Amino acid sequence: MTQEPLMQPIPDGRFRFACRRSLPCFTKCCANLNLVLTPYDVLRLKNRLKVSSKVFLERYTISYIDEDCGMPVVKLKMNDDKDRRCPFVSPEGCTVYEDRPGACRIYPLGRAASKIRGRERAGEYYFMVKESHCLGFDEDKEWTIEEWIKDQGLDEYNAMNDIFMDITAGRHSRTIKTLGGQRLKMFYMACYSLDEFRRFIFESTFLDRFVIEQDVINRIKADDVELMRLACQWLQFALFGDKTIEPRRDFNNNNSQ
Ligand code: SF4
Ligand code: SF4
Repeated sequence: MTQEPLMQPIPDGRFRFACRRSLPCFTKCCANLNLVLTPYDVLRLKNRLKVSSKVFLERYTISYIDEDCGMPVVKLKMNDDKDRRCPFVSPEGCTVYEDRPGACRIYPLGRAASKIRGRERAGEYYFMVKESHCLGFDEDKEWTIEEWIKDQGLDEYNAMNDIFMDITAGRHSRTIKTLGGQRLKMFYMACYSLDEFRRFIFESTFLDRFVIEQDVINRIKADDVELMRLACQWLQFALFGDKTIEPRRDFNNNNSQ
């Protein structure tokens, strides 16, 4: 039976940990995972693998409504073998290391974050996650939480995940849980299927309907991060009526006459 990980506080913000290839547990942690992917994880991985979002989602993920929290979720599909290995693990380690998901980067820490509307950064709290098979805790290397975040390249993941949290957390979470049909498709497209969202922008009346600055239009043609920011703004407008994006009055007046 798999043992549940132990969650522990980090009272002085310091912890001991090191992950090395020479440890007997090397890559044991890359199997049988319930690895939920954020939109930014999907963006990084599909670009790493040089495939479209559609191909990445079909080949490597499962999308479903989580029974416990009621939220739409995308998770990494483990291999269909007895160990349920991650599709990206090899005997040498992670084959997508530079673009591995945020959940893989942050281990052995966990992050709880809450976003206050209008504030750039989320309030956050870090704790220790101890997996029983992990021998990294027996190592001498000492870290502060800040050093670990920097070393693992977590800042950009946290920043992009906090933008996504503006949609899924707080007062909006109730709306997200009730999405169905076309609105649920919109959510998945804007959050996870960025190539499809780009086509939606450039091949529909989107740019006639909304005021988007020309330099943003230029950037989103090739910049997925910029596109994801716009996708989140559009979702907040379309699903919750937030004033995150400005409709063109002339288009809406002409089309309502
Ligand atoms: S189990 Fe722990 S120490 Fe071993 S490879 Fe995984 S993270 Fe590293
Ligand atoms: S993405 Fe890489 S680090 Fe994460 S579980 Fe898979 S092989 Fe391990």
